[in-house]
Amino acid sequence: MDQRDFVIAGNWKMHKTVEESKVFMHDFKPYLKNNRCKIILFVPYTNIESCVKLSAKTDICVGAQNFHWEDSGAFTGEISIKMLSGLGVKNYLVGHSERRRCFGETDDVINRKIKKAVSEDVSIVLCVGETHQQRESGAAIESVISQVKEGLSGINNINTSKIYIAYEPVWAIGTGRVANPQEVNQMCGCIRTCISDGWGAGTGEKFKILYGGSVDRKTCREFLLMSDINGVLVGGASLDPDEFGGIIGVANDILNEGND
Ligand code: PEP
Repeated sequence: MDQRDFVIAGNWKMHKTVEESKVFMHDFKPYLKNNRCKIILFVPYTNIESCVKLSAKTDICVGAQNFHWEDSGAFTGEISIKMLSGLGVKNYLVGHSERRRCFGETDDVINRKIKKAVSEDVSIVLCVGETHQQRESGAAIESVISQVKEGLSGINNINTSKIYIAYEPVWAIGTGRVANPQEVNQMCGCIRTCISDGWGAGTGEKFKILYGGSVDRKTCREFLLMSDINGVLVGGASLDPDEFGGIIGVANDILNEGND
């Protein structure tokens, strides 16, 4: 399953009560027929237990949006992989720009989390992206590649079915401003080269890189057709089962077209 061609991930952020997530699961499941993509839904902690139950025997992997790098300790308000594993969570989001911006997460903190995730053999999506100001000043590539290198520093082997990167320009997240697919593809190519340089050409070739930033079912196709883009990370549009299901449909159509 992990080696499927596209990774389609949803990030619910701080949205949906348990009841609302049950309604979502009910309405979303019909879109999973003949699915060939890896689907991850990063839901709030409070919804994990019910979403794991409701997604049993489906292609949906339920993930957590954050975790602490220790197993336990005096860290009020934090939750560890050890605790989440007990609920059946195997997928984690790391370094989302909202965590970096609103909660002061640094590359060092993100690197600690990634090291912990690797030692626990769970899957992660590492989010990287430049701010509007960095893009305007010509520092976008430098900033993104630095986040990749710092985040993955000290990771000797990359298991490409367990570590993914989502390139999410900060100015495109939740703003309705979708980035230019060619420019995104270029950036994803730079990320791939960085992975090849650091961990070998074979790893770079297999490595999955997602795009995130105001993607919906109308805009996703252009990104998914790009040579260096292997999936999408979807925020706002993942809250609506028809919209998120529509994206899964487009991704599967592309995979099926490739087989004609
Ligand atoms: C996100 O939360 O990672 C994201 C890309 O959000 P949105 O799709 O709403 O821009």
